[in-house]
Amino acid sequence: MKTAKTDVSSLIEKDRANVWHHISPYIEEKPPMVIQSGQGAWITDHQGNRYLDGMSGLWCVNVGYGREELAKAAYDQMVEMAYVPMTQSHVPAIELAEKLNDLLGGGYMIFYSNSGSDANEVAFKLARQFHQQNGEPSRFKFLSRHRAYHGSSMGALSATGQALRKFKYEPLAPGFLHVSPPDSYRRPAGMSVEDYNIMRAEEFEQKIIWEQKETIAGIIMEPLITGGGILTPHPVYVEKVQEICRKYGILLIIDEVICGFGRTGKYFGHQHFGIKPDIITMAKGLTSAYLPLSVTAVRKDIYETFKNSAENSHFRHVNTFGGNPAACAVALKNLEIIERERLVERSELLGARLQAELAELKEHPHVGDIRGLGFLLGIEMVENKETKEPASAERVASLIAACKKEGLIIGKNGDTVEGSNNVLTLSPPLSCTDDDVEFIISVLKKVFTEL
Ligand code: PLP
Repeated sequence: MKTAKTDVSSLIEKDRANVWHHISPYIEEKPPMVIQSGQGAWITDHQGNRYLDGMSGLWCVNVGYGREELAKAAYDQMVEMAYVPMTQSHVPAIELAEKLNDLLGGGYMIFYSNSGSDANEVAFKLARQFHQQNGEPSRFKFLSRHRAYHGSSMGALSATGQALRKFKYEPLAPGFLHVSPPDSYRRPAGMSVEDYNIMRAEEFEQKIIWEQKETIAGIIMEPLITGGGILTPHPVYVEKVQEICRKYGILLIIDEVICGFGRTGKYFGHQHFGIKPDIITMAKGLTSAYLPLSVTAVRKDIYETFKNSAENSHFRHVNTFGGNPAACAVALKNLEIIERERLVERSELLGARLQAELAELKEHPHVGDIRGLGFLLGIEMVENKETKEPASAERVASLIAACKKEGLIIGKNGDTVEGSNNVLTLSPPLSCTDDDVEFIISVLKKVFTEL
């Protein structure tokens, strides 16, 4: 639907009167953008302003905007069979589960839900029930990291380690505990990155012992902490966490909601490391957000404990929309596009180019660190390079506003932990052209020069 430019102010008025926006304070002079269309990596607002969407929406539109074949896949499926509850089955759900299992290297069962939060809730419920049916009913606690985000629902928010996302919504679910994140940039002076990461992984072990090892059901973590500030671990960290899980009989749940589907330069973020997770959750890039869909992939031998005929031993969890046929059809087509256009390899290549070109920004007095994996980048801004004092909210906001003025949308790790919201984030569509990447680089260089 095309909207005349003159309608803009009345649209904003109606928006202000009726729409309550996600995680945004009300600022009279800063109304939300009303986005009308998207093509490739670019979005256009109702006033005709074009922006390169350097955040792929919320880290999710991996194949870019305007893909007619995704719309057609949804249309065709809706006409043929619009809805099947997942108590039964349908062709796209079956084909997608097989495809995902292939991408994961096999050995998983696929449970469908609607959102990343849902997928993590399923992981928590499954893990608790598994331990109960596996003769270890005392295991109910989950460990995760401060600064990491795992979703907005009460369980997923409990696992989240971002105090500002929880503030005023507590008390949350009991049994969720947190350890320090691996923040190599702020490691103690004189300590190697590797030693520091081992130390951080061992914090899990310490917590397990303090809490009594037979009470711990699972550890949930992203391959790298994304929304909490792009905290990339040394491989030794991830591998050590798996080792600890195995040592204590704890399930390792890997949250691939952002890292999945090529974002980090591999199909799944955990594939950078020598690990085989027990449970993997995914959403966002699964459909490139054209329709809502999420997945909890569970090791088959865990699934086996739910197959016995004892009363109440099946997984008693249902959601109406999970595994929606059109969403599954879109996911299949989305994966076809990712493969056909080699977007996973492209992510690795473009991420490397971005890092190489932006390396010179490390000299800037307000840039403390630049880090990332694949086409995912964080720029940690500081007031003072020596003390690493985090950049003020105003400085971070002015940088984001300057990018927007130049036509580039970038993000930041907002509302996470007080004093740690100073990391600019970039997660552009993996389908970015070479010109798009040049544009991102030139805008960032320009705005930092002028800062
Ligand atoms: N896990 C991670 C790592 C996320 O980044 C998010 C959302 O940003 C979620 C889970 C929750 O996903 P959703 O917003 O689809 O519920």
